[in-house]
Amino acid sequence: MTIPGTVYLVGAGPGDPELLTLRAHRLLSRCDALVYDSLVPTELLELVPDGCERHFVGKRRGHHSVPQPSTNALLLELAGRHRSIVRLKGGDPFLFGRGGEEAAHLAARGIPVEVVPGVTAGIAALAYAGIPVTHRRAGSSVSFVTGHEEIDKGRPAVDWRGLARSSDGLVIYMGLHNLRRIAEELQAGGLPPETPAAVVQQGTVRGQRLLISQLERLADDVEAEGFASPAIVAVGPMVAQRIAACAPEPAQVVMPIPF
Ligand code: SAH
Repeated sequence: MTIPGTVYLVGAGPGDPELLTLRAHRLLSRCDALVYDSLVPTELLELVPDGCERHFVGKRRGHHSVPQPSTNALLLELAGRHRSIVRLKGGDPFLFGRGGEEAAHLAARGIPVEVVPGVTAGIAALAYAGIPVTHRRAGSSVSFVTGHEEIDKGRPAVDWRGLARSSDGLVIYMGLHNLRRIAEELQAGGLPPETPAAVVQQGTVRGQRLLISQLERLADDVEAEGFASPAIVAVGPMVAQRIAACAPEPAQVVMPIPF
């Protein structure tokens, strides 16, 4: 029996290739096979050796992404033929990236699997917009929440009203589609309409845009300014602690209501 290769579930970071970890860089530059999806920075694909077998499993324009069972089967098959397989995922592989499912699938079949954490978009996109994800003057807790509940069937629905009461700050992934309802639910849960809120589109990469607004008008402002995915939505007092000077890139800032 041949010894299976190792699958490395690697975080690609949020977009800026400079935010890749050293461990991810080393694994990419030596891997025999690479499996990647849509939110992976394209510059990183150049790091793999010439002979590396590459597989794209993300969403192509107008098409759905490759179904999870096919990706699992592909990883399994590659582990039978190669020594080092990198499964590259945007941000951190275990944060809303289905990395946990892939790791469990492989581990249950005796495939060695290792995870390499990555810099997640929810922290980095805010940081590149000058917004500290927590701040001593802005409470003691922050929650990472998915705003895209309906595609994740089998996942319990988000208790937005409960979060409004229990979490000082919210960092919402995939939140634009349901933003109006989310903002309404958060206000129904007790958040004041003037709670500071921000949206960072294309965080950490060229074209990054930042919208600073308030909960009550956030969905209208997003629509009026034409913000689109991928974007991180931040709600809470940390947004008002923004330090514009520490944002590394000169990016477009839209601020209908200046704080
Ligand atoms: N595992 C990833 C998240 C995957 S879910 C991570 O840790 O970052 C995909 C969502 O992440 C997108 O819909 C968007 O909400 C967010 N996202 C990813 N990259 C982003 C970026 N560069 N700027 C803003 N949001 C981003």
